[in-house]
Amino acid sequence: MSIEQYLIPESIDECLSLLNRFEGRAMLIAGGTDLVPKLAQKKIEPTVLVDVTGIENFCDLIVTHTDLIVGAGTTHTQVAGNETLAQTWPALTRACGSIGSPQIRNIATLTGNIVTAMPGADAAVALVVLDAAVEIASPDGKRSAAVEDLYAGVGQSKIDSGREIITAIKVPRPQKKHGNAYGRISPRNSFCFPIVNAAAALTCENEKIISARLAMGPVADRPFRPQKAEAVLKGAVLDDLKAIDEAAILASQEANPRSSCLRGCADYRRELLKVLVKQVIMDASERLAR
Ligand SMILES: Cc1cc2nc3c(=O)[nH]c(=O)nc-3n(C[C@H](O)[C@H](O)[C@H](O)COP(=O)(O)OP(=O)(O)OC[C@H]3O[C@@H](n4cnc5c(N)ncnc54)[C@H](O)[C@@H]3O)c2cc1C
Repeated sequence: MSIEQYLIPESIDECLSLLNRFEGRAMLIAGGTDLVPKLAQKKIEPTVLVDVTGIENFCDLIVTHTDLIVGAGTTHTQVAGNETLAQTWPALTRACGSIGSPQIRNIATLTGNIVTAMPGADAAVALVVLDAAVEIASPDGKRSAAVEDLYAGVGQSKIDSGREIITAIKVPRPQKKHGNAYGRISPRNSFCFPIVNAAAALTCENEKIISARLAMGPVADRPFRPQKAEAVLKGAVLDDLKAIDEAAILASQEANPRSSCLRGCADYRRELLKVLVKQVIMDASERLAR
């Protein structure tokens, strides 16, 4: 089967009506960096591609008092290079800046990174730790869903991009004293998937951590939150190194990395996680202390 039509709608309504008209034979495409290789390998076989990058305001980045709103067509380059965003959401700007190469980052979108549903997708790991949600438009109306609830298994998203469209990603703006950080370990700095990646987001009141979110990849069938490790951090004082060490060890125990020719054996990757998770917690708490 080959692509018969490539359509570029200018509005969300037009996009939904095109998807509806082709009754499951059409699929959304943004940068195409995940989709095109799958088409070439015949893993998916739509006959129509509907390009979302021409939709009005889809590449907008808006910062409000309560949220960062990332248009669904926003590329990793737009986020990675934004100094204002880096002040409040360094985990996200760093994650986007670590993806692929400049050429990939220039066309690939954060939305695609979520819908592709890979457990180690860098921006998705950061978005999960930042408690981000997506806005979805479908023939049934509009709804929103937490990014971490969109996973149905490795490479399986709950978003049906032959029927519905993500219109924006919403990242809450921290209202209290907050720090977040992201890190990844990979054989090269560029053009290389991570052996492991991790992110931390800490919120503090009276020098105590009142909320701790951690996320890691690719160590499960989705970006993974180690809840025992998070529980150890909650209530700890900011510079409690014992709690940080314990959380890093627990996180590596909760993770379930596979042995892989590309990424190394499971034991090695667990050891790396201990170091990386400690590092991102320390980085996030250092930002908190500022
Ligand atoms: C050489 C190379 C290196 C890479 N390196 C990395 C890396 O280091 N880290 C990493 O995380 N990823 C990496 N990737 C994967 C990829 O670049 C990212 O996942 C990227 O963010 C995908 O975005 P895209 O816009 O290209 O998505 P596309 O390929 O266009 O789409 C991906 C999926 O999202 C759906 N979709 C797109 N937009 C919408 C929408 N608005 N609503 C609903 N569904 C939608 C599509 O239908 C498709 O199912 C790499 C890819 C390549 C080719």
